[in-house]
Amino acid sequence: MKKMAAESVIQQILGLKGKDPQFFGRYLLKQDFLEHKIPANERAGLIKKALDCGRAAAQTFQVDYQSIPQYLEEQQIAIHYFEEVSAVTKKDYTLARITLPDQVFLNRSLIDAGEAWIKAETRLHFVTEQTSIETILIAHELYHSIETCKKLYTTQKHLTYRVGPFKKHARLHSLSEIAATAFVQELYGLVFSPLLLNPVLIYPVDPPFGTEILQQFFAEDVSRKPMD
Ligand SMILES: [Zn+2]
Repeated sequence: MKKMAAESVIQQILGLKGKDPQFFGRYLLKQDFLEHKIPANERAGLIKKALDCGRAAAQTFQVDYQSIPQYLEEQQIAIHYFEEVSAVTKKDYTLARITLPDQVFLNRSLIDAGEAWIKAETRLHFVTEQTSIETILIAHELYHSIETCKKLYTTQKHLTYRVGPFKKHARLHSLSEIAATAFVQELYGLVFSPLLLNPVLIYPVDPPFGTEILQQFFAEDVSRKPMD
């Protein structure tokens, strides 16, 4: 890892630590291929509803279950690990994923690389101070299990739009991602958005793409129009 590059990357990560959930919500909505079909004046409201949905799910979860391990056991969800084999920069990494109803997959290579970087860099210690990277990733995936089982807002909300003469209905998957981050943040009282794991876990194995991820966060800040 180049020392100078890593320094500016750390500064950017620390800058993102102070951003609010709406900021990350806008970032995630922007990644949605249907974003441009949503009227600009409705976007902030959708983000808020998704954030509220994730937080409420966390509060219910805390009442219904003792912990994540207990939920895993009751739902008989298995955790699997896989390795990142390619060392070449690429545009998509999977940190974790769930195959519903009961299989969670975690990227062992990225978790190990991220943990090593955090251990070596005092200013990144905050990332693992409240709970482990693994727990954050598992809890995120479990939100997808919960939203499906309980038919929460994020699975029910459909966007209706036209393509030529056809009327289409589609789910906004970014709302699920926004809610999942709010769920994890509420569950562990995290002082940062779990989305910070993207640059923290990817930069050590792929500095060019890790840097690009950080730029995408800040591009959102700059490109935001005052009317949105
Ligand atoms: Zn997700």
